[in-house]
Amino acid sequence: MYPKVKPALARAWRDLQTVQFGVTPAHAVVLGPVDTATGSLIDRIDGTRGMELLRAEARAAGLAEGRLDELVRRLAGAGLLDDLTAGGPRAQAVRRRPEVLERLGPDMGSLSLVHREPGGDLRGVAARRAIRVQVRGSGRVGAAVAAVLAGAGVGRVEVLDGGRVTAADVAPGGLGPASVGRLRAEAAAALVRESAPGRPPRTGDPEGPGPAPALVVVAPRDGLQAWAPDPAVAADWVGSGTPHLYAGVLEGTGLVGPLVLPGATACAGCMERDRVDRDPAWPRMLVQWRSAHRRRATAACDLGLSTAVAGLTAAHALAFLDGELPASTATRWEAALPGLHWEHSALRPHPDCPCAAAAPAVDAGAVRS
Ligand SMILES: [Zn+2]
Repeated sequence: MYPKVKPALARAWRDLQTVQFGVTPAHAVVLGPVDTATGSLIDRIDGTRGMELLRAEARAAGLAEGRLDELVRRLAGAGLLDDLTAGGPRAQAVRRRPEVLERLGPDMGSLSLVHREPGGDLRGVAARRAIRVQVRGSGRVGAAVAAVLAGAGVGRVEVLDGGRVTAADVAPGGLGPASVGRLRAEAAAALVRESAPGRPPRTGDPEGPGPAPALVVVAPRDGLQAWAPDPAVAADWVGSGTPHLYAGVLEGTGLVGPLVLPGATACAGCMERDRVDRDPAWPRMLVQWRSAHRRRATAACDLGLSTAVAGLTAAHALAFLDGELPASTATRWEAALPGLHWEHSALRPHPDCPCAAAAPAVDAGAVRS
């Protein structure tokens, strides 16, 4: 074991006996009481020394037997300890890829805050490399989402879209000016390759379907399809239980979410039924909006807003892929120009929707009795 105090959190002494790790409240941890001699040991737990050497240094500093081991236990218990040998074989495989580790250094620092066990950062990187994500749409939002996911270490990112890249699709972080005129799917695939840290992981059959997508990001160039998603388009994902996350920009409003967990949270069918319940004119309006959008040449999509939506969408997707439930779960976040306050609406499953998310969960106690 080569213990290492996680470098992601800045250390500061609150008083003579109390150390605070971290600045911001979400991840800061307070450790105390710690005497000065023990405190000076913390600096030596930096991953360059094994436990034996650290114990010898503790003895040389005049600390009682067992004090070092106790400190390491306390640090580990507080989620503050990393171990350069932890994480299992998949983490070790990542350790052998220095080009990946250098690129993902800040991302690993971030993972180390969420995955608090030693080696959690590398395990997180290894898990991302094994994941397949599909992004639907390669416009200002979709292409940037795909690039960020690939850049953050997601092993396989596929972008589905038709037609050819137009000048209006070009965005920093997304498709570049040189891709104008190319097939959208090809240009987006090239963007994903360029964004990835190192080569993609090997799969058994490079042409084969591979694992089912862990997530579909629905980021259509036409924001209406994210704002009022078509249940028919989502039917396959709902049927196969594939989580999907909507994102887009529509008429100066950016939206992130909902993340749909089929059978558990509201789907496109639930959202549509709910809107019809609340506004009988909704179906009639929707038909007209869809037809207007098909005719329209240019959408109102602010570049700053589309970039923010893409970044937030990618962050929510990564949080989900890393095993958490981000705030977009069953919730749509919206920010409208020019104030850009993020506001959220909770989306409830509809009792008439065939996705059955509204069905009462089976009560295990009732089944047993
Ligand atoms: Zn539903």
